[in-house]
Amino acid sequence: MQQNYKVNELFQTIQGEGFYTGMPAIFVRLQGCDVGCAWCDTKNTWDIDPDKQAPLSELSDHSDQSSQWADVSAQGIIDEIKRLRYSANLVVITGGEPCMVDLRELTTLLHEFGFQTQVETSGTYPILVDDNTWVTLSPKVNMRGGKVVLQTALERANEIKHPVGREKDIEQLDKLLAQLPSTQDKTICLQPISQKANATELCSRVCIERNWRLSVQVHKYLGID
Ligand code: SF4
Repeated sequence: MQQNYKVNELFQTIQGEGFYTGMPAIFVRLQGCDVGCAWCDTKNTWDIDPDKQAPLSELSDHSDQSSQWADVSAQGIIDEIKRLRYSANLVVITGGEPCMVDLRELTTLLHEFGFQTQVETSGTYPILVDDNTWVTLSPKVNMRGGKVVLQTALERANEIKHPVGREKDIEQLDKLLAQLPSTQDKTICLQPISQKANATELCSRVCIERNWRLSVQVHKYLGID
């Protein structure tokens, strides 16, 4: 059966975070998330309000924190990328929490059309993606929604990108990583929360000590989306 996706917005920009920082990317943001992070900067994606459904063509022009969404098939998403004449090769599927739905059909079809895919997830849902999809897991622990980061999600992740505000967050990450037999095949990134100076200093120090990567959300420094 064909899977449809609830798209909040679709736009082309530069990936500003994590392993693919600096790469041109097409972002497909899906509507829906029940994880409940207090500092979430896309709270507009949380609820799927039937009254907010709209045609995809009305959302593609970067919807600016709108809660509107379009119900689109995998082929429909590719058709829209073509219609907009986007040139980036990397498609980043984000949210919201994109893993609330099965992403295998979309990621496989994107690969068939020659795209590379990346999924950004909190790790609180099973990750159903093509084997060649790069999975960036940004673990969300003790959030209001009461969700738990799944062991299977940690195992599938290619990259673990942890939001850090204070020392406690590093301890939390250490506990999660201890669940894995090895982290050698994974890229570990620390990302200071909200560009705070203390958090950036802490992340820089720990990254140097442990040979991890610093992810600073360059799009926020550059003022691009
Ligand atoms: S998982 Fe992502 S979209 Fe959901 S609340 Fe947390 S930061 Fe926001």
